[in-house]
Amino acid sequence: MVNEVNTEPKKRADMPKTSYSKPMVGATGETGSWRTFSPRIDYERCNKCRTCWLHCPEAVISIDDEGFPRIDLDYCKGCGTCAQVCPPECIEMIRESQEEADD
Ligand code: SF4
Ligand code: SF4
Repeated sequence: MVNEVNTEPKKRADMPKTSYSKPMVGATGETGSWRTFSPRIDYERCNKCRTCWLHCPEAVISIDDEGFPRIDLDYCKGCGTCAQVCPPECIEMIRESQEEADD
């Protein structure tokens, strides 16, 4: 017998209970200010699986109205977890100085 895999997108309410707090300005300001690498999503390849959203330890990834993940770079710490867990590997970690040069 083959196990059926539920591929429907999940909401936070469907997930196991875990600690969760929204990012906010702390005593030292926005926590993304000292980041050296930042994630860049290739939306052409993103399949809306929400794996990045589920695993981000800073809870700075939200899902927009079309189901795509959006990263709040004011608070993203550049840990790279989202890039590591993304199944189609469509998140690239870019050096901050390189990102400014590309824009
Ligand atoms: S780099 Fe880390 S903190 Fe930033 S969005 Fe990815 S998982 Fe979250
Ligand atoms: S893990 Fe990758 S494919 Fe899945 S929603 Fe995030 S960016 Fe898109």
